[in-house]
Amino acid sequence: MKAIQAIRGMKDIPPAETPVWRRLEDTARDVLAGYGYHELRPPIVEKTELFRRSVGEATDIVEKEMYTFADRNGENLSLRPECTASCVRAAIEHGWLRGRGQRLWHIGPMFRYEKPQKGRYRQFHQLDVEALGFPGPDVDAELILLSARLWRRLGLEGLRLELNCLGSREIQQSYRDQLVDYLSAHVKDLDDDSQRRLGSNPLRILDSKNPDLRHILEAAPRIVDCLDDDSRAHFEQLQAMLDASDITFLVNPRLVRGLDYYTGTVFEWITDDLGAQGAVCGGGRYDGLVEEIGGTPAPATGFAVGLERIVALMQSGENVPAPLAPHAYLLAVGVEAQRAAHTLAEQLRDVLPGLCLLVDAGPGKFKRKMKTADRSGAKLALILGEDEIRQQRITLKDMRGDGGQVSVARSEIAEKLQASIDFND
Ligand code: AMP
Repeated sequence: MKAIQAIRGMKDIPPAETPVWRRLEDTARDVLAGYGYHELRPPIVEKTELFRRSVGEATDIVEKEMYTFADRNGENLSLRPECTASCVRAAIEHGWLRGRGQRLWHIGPMFRYEKPQKGRYRQFHQLDVEALGFPGPDVDAELILLSARLWRRLGLEGLRLELNCLGSREIQQSYRDQLVDYLSAHVKDLDDDSQRRLGSNPLRILDSKNPDLRHILEAAPRIVDCLDDDSRAHFEQLQAMLDASDITFLVNPRLVRGLDYYTGTVFEWITDDLGAQGAVCGGGRYDGLVEEIGGTPAPATGFAVGLERIVALMQSGENVPAPLAPHAYLLAVGVEAQRAAHTLAEQLRDVLPGLCLLVDAGPGKFKRKMKTADRSGAKLALILGEDEIRQQRITLKDMRGDGGQVSVARSEIAEKLQASIDFND
């Protein structure tokens, strides 16, 4: 029978890689706690309407990348392509925004039917961080400082921060008209993708990676030149706060994001170490979204980190965490010893809570079991045979050092392990 394989663009994270993921997730949790952010766990499936209204009808994500289906009741649902919409939906639904702000985060899988390639998947993971209900540039700065701290804590270097300001919806509308006029005059020189976007989502053309368009886009009108006083002041204050905190950034007037809900500040962290998929984190302000989803108007800002890309950077660095080897491997030879093995293992786990003890399983000769013990990477083998059972003792073999072995009374084994294992290792 043909073996069934995983879906294209959706990959297993094997045991050899999960320690890196754990380190990333644990570090993120720790950093977020230091800024007073709380974890939210929204569902993975939402009504399709939520993403249509938030991410936007004319975006690539909603137009052609969502996993959308009717449930058995005929309701139109989608696997979430991103998580901001769910956080906002939850905050409105539970009344969390009444008179106060909310600082939330979530880690989990997202789904987009994109062309799979290195760093771009159909199921991928994001750390999503959202600050709802705060209008000022101080919270934009807080988010950027938080992300910068995360990179530092993970030991990542060489990430560049790019910033732009997209202004209010009204500014975006009038800028959009100017941009369409300009690009229409160059329509013959645009590629197919940009020609298609000219009618639907012209701002995204600015984001094109096609080098042939560079000269046209460099001369295009810039949204920063169209900002009103409020937006400009907000953007300038943010930059001053980042300067004061020694965060280096570049204002990129062509930085736009692939989701429609952004207003005001937008930012991206970019690396040159991952080839074409260099954006590791993107976010910004979305002051209109709470109202667009049906809530009482409230400002909001947030970002999402692409975890696969951060893991790739961590793996290319030094000090990559490996799967934990057990401290000890318990192997029992003979029916009676096998019966006693789990009882002993449970007693040891009771008194030594940090102990990682692997108990040999299945039939086999002593020599083969010792080979398995060695392959497990355990530092110690605990050998329980017929003799040991009779004498109420256990043989302790050093698997990594000189290979020496000692016989220890059953009643003293926990103490002996405590003395020979570094539980922080
Ligand atoms: P976005 O939700 O599009 O603003 O993306 C935020 C971050 O998620 C990006 O900077 C990427 O690091 C990551 N990301 C987005 N789409 C994918 C994907 N298809 N595969 C892997 N990572 C992704």
